[in-house]
Amino acid sequence: MRIVLLGPPGSGKGTQAAELVDRLSLAHLSTGDMLRAAVAAKTPVGVRAAEIMERGDLVPDDVVIGVIADRISEPDCADGFILDGFPRTVAQAEGLSRLLEGLRLSLDAVIELTVDEEALLARIEKRARETEGATRADDNPDTVRRRLEVYRKQTAPVAAYYEGKGGLRRVNGMLPVEAVSGEIAALLDRVKTTSGSEAAG
Ligand code: AMP
Repeated sequence: MRIVLLGPPGSGKGTQAAELVDRLSLAHLSTGDMLRAAVAAKTPVGVRAAEIMERGDLVPDDVVIGVIADRISEPDCADGFILDGFPRTVAQAEGLSRLLEGLRLSLDAVIELTVDEEALLARIEKRARETEGATRADDNPDTVRRRLEVYRKQTAPVAAYYEGKGGLRRVNGMLPVEAVSGEIAALLDRVKTTSGSEAAG
C-alpha cells in the first residue's frame, strides 16, 4: 500500500506511521528524519536545511521533492511506503502526483489526523518541559508554536487538495494511541476491499 499520513506536530503522526510500518511491512519515508540525517551528515541539503528547521519553517519544496524522488525509487519502496511529513505544501502534493504518475503508481489512502489545537499545544509544551535539552532542537515551545502556524497556513491546504480529489480520510488524533491505530486499521481494511478504486493519485 502507498499511504500519506498528514497531521500537525504532536498529533501522533510519527507513532502511527511507525505502527503501520511494522504491521504492514511498508517503507517509512519521513522527510523530517531524512532531513535530520542530512543535517547530521552535513550534506549540501543538510547545510541548507539546518537553520530553516531550527526556526520551524519549511525547507524549500524543490529540496524535499528531490529527496523523496530519490528515495521512492529505491527497491524497498516497491512493495509500498508510508509518507510521514510529506507533502507539506500543495506544491509538494502536486510534485508527488507527478512523480507517482511517472512511475505509474497511485496512492491508496491519504489520512489526516485531526487535533484540538489548544489541547495539542498543552501536550507539546508539557513534553518539551519534561524532556528539556534532551530532544530535538525544534521541540521547544516557541518553535512548536511556529510549526503549528506553518501547518495551519501551508499544510492544511494539502488536506483540502486531497479532499478535492476525493481521497482524504480523517481520524481523530486526540483519541488514545490504540484507538487511533484501530481506526486507521479499519479504514485501511475498507480501502483494501475496494481495491484502491478511490485512490487519490
Ligand atoms: P518533522 O519531523 O516531520 O516534524 O519535520 C521537522 C522539520 O523538518 C520541519 O519543521 C521542517 O522544517 C522540515 N521538514 C520536514 N518535512 C518537510 C517537508 N515535507 N517540507 C518542508 N520541510 C520539511
